[in-house]
Amino acid sequence: MAKAKTEKKHSIIDAHNHPDWHGHGFDKFIRNMDDCGIAKTWLLSFEGPVDESNPINFPVHASKTLGTLTAPTSFARCVAFKERAPERFVLGYCPDLRRPDAIDYLDAAIQVYGVKVCGELKLRMIYDNPDALRFYRFCGEKNLPVTMHFQYPMELGVKYPRPDYWYGGDLEVLERILQKCPGTIFIGHAQGFWAHLSQDHQFKTTNYPTGKVTPGGLVPEYLRKYPNLHADLSAGSAITALKRDPEFTKDFLLEFQNRLLYARDCFTNSLQEFLNSLALPVEVLNKIYFQNALRLVPED
Ligand SMILES: [Zn+2]
Repeated sequence: MAKAKTEKKHSIIDAHNHPDWHGHGFDKFIRNMDDCGIAKTWLLSFEGPVDESNPINFPVHASKTLGTLTAPTSFARCVAFKERAPERFVLGYCPDLRRPDAIDYLDAAIQVYGVKVCGELKLRMIYDNPDALRFYRFCGEKNLPVTMHFQYPMELGVKYPRPDYWYGGDLEVLERILQKCPGTIFIGHAQGFWAHLSQDHQFKTTNYPTGKVTPGGLVPEYLRKYPNLHADLSAGSAITALKRDPEFTKDFLLEFQNRLLYARDCFTNSLQEFLNSLALPVEVLNKIYFQNALRLVPED
């Protein structure tokens, strides 16, 4: 009698989400994953001083309720989710890189809790200072990919505590990091990253550029040039960029099929609906939906 195939079955991995985000406490989070066919989520912290994050994020966050001074999503909440459903989550953590002992924090989190991803890095600092570079090299030694949020200063009509929120610096900062830390995998994310899918100047005036893509953008250029760069397709920034020019997007997804990760940073199913509408080969979809994530973070 033929032996039943013992090949392990995988399904979708969401490579970017946060506990309690948009009011999704544990039960609601798990229900939402099930509804969207998501087997596993990379659960990232989003820690920094409270005044570095738009207050708009706070009313929906447990951090506020719990009275913590890091915001909006603490690593402690990632651990709390992971302990309740270890098979559904991959732990991510990024300490504040301005702390001189940031490496020790991450090292302890790896040893004690089994952190597999460094993220989300979202701080009001230029990301390539010497301490940060040392930290990224440590991530490379420990085989942790680093998920980075880039965002240009853009006035949002909010006056308190600052008129704008920016993170990381411009994309030349990313290029210097890619060059100086070739042994570390970096995952690009957010408005300041995806604005450069196209070679135009909209990144100076809007967080969400629209219209046909002009070839020659820094995102495809860096993906071609630096094998240590990957990108997650999470949040409004990625889907808005991908929807700008579906014809360009199809070629982009085919060319970089080994470097892109399905990810949400929200709780809708719009990215799956969009990806599935493009008639991509199933091998390509499988890479984006889970194989690339498993290559970066193999299962235990
Ligand atoms: Zn982000």
